[in-house]
Amino acid sequence: THFGYESIPEQDKEERVYEVFKKVAGSYDLMNDAMSMGVHRVWKDRFIDRLAPNPGTQLLDVAGGTGDIAFRFLKYTKSLERKHGNINTESSDDSDFDLTRDITPQAFGIPDHYADDQVLSSADSSSSSSDEEESLERASPKTHVTVCDINKEMLEVGKGRAREMGLVKGLSWVQGNAESLSFGDNLFDAYTIAFGIRNCTHVDKVVEEAYRVLKPGGRFMCLEFSQVTNPLLRSAYDNYSFQVIPVMGQVLARDWKSYQYLVESIRQFPDQEEFASIIRRSGFKMVTYENLTFGVAAIHSGFKL
Ligand code: SAM
Repeated sequence: THFGYESIPEQDKEERVYEVFKKVAGSYDLMNDAMSMGVHRVWKDRFIDRLAPNPGTQLLDVAGGTGDIAFRFLKYTKSLERKHGNINTESSDDSDFDLTRDITPQAFGIPDHYADDQVLSSADSSSSSSDEEESLERASPKTHVTVCDINKEMLEVGKGRAREMGLVKGLSWVQGNAESLSFGDNLFDAYTIAFGIRNCTHVDKVVEEAYRVLKPGGRFMCLEFSQVTNPLLRSAYDNYSFQVIPVMGQVLARDWKSYQYLVESIRQFPDQEEFASIIRRSGFKMVTYENLTFGVAAIHSGFKL
C-alpha cells in the first residue's frame, strides 16, 4: 500500500494473530494505556454504560483477553446489586466505580417481554422481606461473565489480574475461537466483543456465532476501532497511527511488527455502516452504532428478537 504495509493473507491470519497476542500478552495492558493515552479506559467504561447490564445478566465476553470488559461488567452489576440490596451479591470487593443512575429495563433498551424476568422487584415495598428475597432469587439468577479468548497467554494474564483484584465468583475463562464457539444455542443475555473482531479472519462467522449463542431478546455489543470521518482529523490520526504506534511498540515492548499489525488491522476493518450491515445480515434487529472520539472507535449494538 501507500504506507508500505502488506495486507494479511487470509490463510495465515489466525496463526499470525495468535503469535502477536502471545508476544504482547505480558505488556498488553501497559501498551493499551500508552498508545491510547488512557482513552481506551473511557471507551470501555462507555461500552459497559451502554450495555447497562442488570444484576443476573449472563454475559459472554468474546476475545476477552486480559479481562478489561469482564471486570468492568462485574463492578457495574455489583454496584447495582449493593444498591438494590440484592441477596445474590456474591462478594464484597470495593468497587471504585461511581455508578449512581438507576437501571431500568428501558435503559437496557430491550423489549418488555424480555425485560420483565430480569427486573428486580426490590421496589415492591408491600411484600414481606422473605417474599422479597424469594422473588429476588427468582427474578435474578447469579450474575456471570464468561471470558472467551483464543489465546492462552492472554487468558493467563487475565486470570492473574482477577486473582489480584479478588474477583473469583461470577467469572470463568474459556479458551475458544470466536468463529466457532463451543457453547450451545440461546444461552446468554448479552454478548460483548471489544477490540477483538478485527483480529478474526471471518467477521461474518463471528457475528453469526454471537447470534446463535444469544437468548432471544439478547444483545450483541461490539467495541472496535473504526473510521475517522472528518478528513482533517483523519490525516492527523493516520500520521499518529502509522508513524507513532510502531515506534512506541519498538521502544516500550521491543516489538515493531506486532504494533505494525495493529495499525494495519484497523485500516482493513469495515467502516461503521458496512459493519452495521454485516450485523443486520446475521439476523440482528435494531442495529445501531455510536462513534467514539470522532470515529476512532465505535460501539455497535443489535438485538436477537
Ligand atoms: N477485549 C480485550 C480488551 O478490550 O482489552 C482484548 C482485546 S485484544 C486487542 C484482542 C484479543 O482478541 C486477543 O486477546 C486475541 O487473542 C483475541 N482473538 C483474536 N482472534 C480471536 C478469535 N478468532 N477468537 C477469539 N479470540 C480471538
